[in-house]
This record gives sequence, structure tokens and C-alpha cells, in this order.
Amino acid sequence: MTDTLPIAVLRGDGIGPEVVPVAMAVAERALSVQGLTIEATELDFGAAAIDADGGPLPEATLTALEDFELWVVGPHHSASYPPHLRSPAPGAVLRKQFGLYANLRPARALSGVEAVAADIDLLIVRENSEGLYADRNMTIGSGEFMPTPDVAMAVGVITRAASERIAVEAFEAARRRRGHVTIVHKANVLRLSTGLFRDACLEVAQRYPDVRVDEQYVDAMAAHLVRRPADFDVLVTENLFGDILSDLAGELSGSLGLAPSINASATQAMAQAVHGAAPDIAGLDVANPVAMIVSVAMLLRWHARRTGDTRVDAAADAIEGAVAHVLADGTATADLGGTAGTRAFGEAVRAHVG
Ligand code: ATP
Repeated sequence: MTDTLPIAVLRGDGIGPEVVPVAMAVAERALSVQGLTIEATELDFGAAAIDADGGPLPEATLTALEDFELWVVGPHHSASYPPHLRSPAPGAVLRKQFGLYANLRPARALSGVEAVAADIDLLIVRENSEGLYADRNMTIGSGEFMPTPDVAMAVGVITRAASERIAVEAFEAARRRRGHVTIVHKANVLRLSTGLFRDACLEVAQRYPDVRVDEQYVDAMAAHLVRRPADFDVLVTENLFGDILSDLAGELSGSLGLAPSINASATQAMAQAVHGAAPDIAGLDVANPVAMIVSVAMLLRWHARRTGDTRVDAAADAIEGAVAHVLADGTATADLGGTAGTRAFGEAVRAHVG
């Protein structure tokens, strides 16, 4: 076990350069309390990289990332790039090139935050490498195409291997939580594809007799999330369903500015908030940094599980505890009805971690 954690830092666009440094400062403090230090390496990414390197995701950044287990990545805002640089989106390249197949998106109401669903506390485990995502489900070419200008088609890809490996993530997570997995699919209509997803998950379930398993159609799941979110613990689902349900769950828990996530393979993980670049509020010091701060805490927890380093786990606990404490105290950014700026909120969390 090492006392220094190398972390690659990609600030990104919009509010990224505001929330990423705040999250790093909080993590640095939490780790230093445990006698650990971060060795941060900033890498070019996003609009700033277009100016410096001619593209939003330079080759040098991709090469450098190979050597990092842990990354902290801000949002990108492809819509603002010159048209020829908008596709593929940098986020898709990162997920595909490095095989970050597991997207873990928790949604939990925190005290001090007015949540539509005060009792929501669940984890969405989203398969991130295939499904209907045209930018990652083909080796060559795009999964979307137009035979004529008036006909558009999309290929959805579901494989047993990818379904099984995401199911393992979900069942392992359930063991650390309340021991309940809900498989979300649409096998009454997409019988073969999401049916394969469901069957692969049910097969993995047999290896976890201690975990309760049930299943829901995705449309019913959306309604249940609003009506009775407390009945769910871990939801495992394919890419597009997971994307939509996690935005819903994030809003139900109070604000998109609170929704954290990590994207992981077996050997690398990236902390990235669920929200986008939010260009409407960029540069104003009003963005909520909670999603980014808690994403970094999730990243540290992921590392702690891999290495067994309990000091890193303790740092993650301290970060999450400090965020909860500061919010419960009534300090909040404008999206939550408060007056604290991004930096001031981050300082309050940092002081509490210390
Ligand atoms: P993308 O396509 O990159 O996901 P988007 O436009 O769908 O981006 P966001 O950029 O996340 O979505 O912004 C959606 C709304 O939520 C905007 O009004 C934005 O200001 C707000 N928002 C997003 N993140 C935050 C945050 N961290 N703090 C406060 N408001 C936020």
C-alpha cells in the first residue's frame, strides 16, 4: 500500500473548472487526515484542449490515462465545439477505449435538502458499453444509419458477457447495501435483446442466494421510482434505461447538482458527476459542487475496495459525512435555494473534513 495516490485530473468545460478543483481540494484534505497525499496530474481535455492541441481529447491525454488507475473528469460540452470536432464525444471515447463498462449512480436524499422523494436511497448500476448507444456498440461505423433521408435506424447491442459482468457489479453492490437487486428490462417488447439481459442477470443471481432478486419493466420502474422509491435498493439495467432512470432518480433526490457517479472497468475508474457542463451558470461561482465531491468519494471507495486500504475508505467516509453535515447545517448553493457560492461551499466541506 502506498501513501501517495496518483490521480489524473481532467477539468473539462463549463462548470468543470469550478467544481473539479473544489472536489480535489476536499479529497486532498480528507486523505491528508489519513496521512496520505494525492499526486494530481492535470491533462488537457475539452474546449481548452482544442485551443492547445487541436481537439477535445488529445492523443497525449489518452496515452497518459493508460497509466492511471484513478481519474477525476469534469463535464464536456461538445455542442460548443466546432462542428467537425463534436463527434465522437470525448466521454464516449473514454468509456469505449478504456472499457469503463460499469456506471454506478447512487441517488440518496440528504437531510437539509428538499427532495421530491425524501426516502430515496438506491443505486443504479448501468451497463455502459453497449445497448442503443451508437457511439460505442460497433467496432467500425456507427450504430445509427439512414438508408434514405426519411428513414433512420439504430442498432441495439446486448451481449451475454456484458450483461453478466454488470450483473456481478450489481449483486456485489447489493451485498454491501441492503441485499436487494431489481433487474430492469423491457422483455415483453424487446424480447430477444433485453430478454437476454434479464436472463443473464437471473443466472448470475443464482450465485448470490443471499441477495433478493426481482424484476420490473422499465416503464413501470419509472412510476415506482416516483411512488415508492424506498422499496428499491440496487437497480441493474442496460445503458439507455439506466441513463434515463438515473436522471429521474437524481432529480427525485433533490437536484441534478447532487447526483454523483463513477464509471469503472476491473482496473480503472473515473469519477464524473451525472450533470453536464451547465454553460448557463459557468463562471458565476454558483454551481453545486456536491455531485463532483461525492463522485470523488465514490472513486476513493472503489480504490479502497481494490487495495484493501482502510485509510482511503475512511477518507471517503469523512467526505460524505462532511457534505451531509454542511447541507444539514443549512449551507447550500442556489440550485438548492441557498446563497453559498461554489468555492464557499467547498471550503465549508473542506473545513469539516479537517
Ligand atoms: P449534457 O448534455 O452535457 O448532459 P445538459 O444540458 O443536459 O448537459 P446540464 O449541463 O447538466 O444538462 O444542465 C441542466 C440544468 O441543470 C442547467 O440549467 C444547469 O444549470 C443545471 N445544473 C447542472 N449541473 C448543475 C450544478 N452542479 N449546480 C447547479 N445547477 C446545475
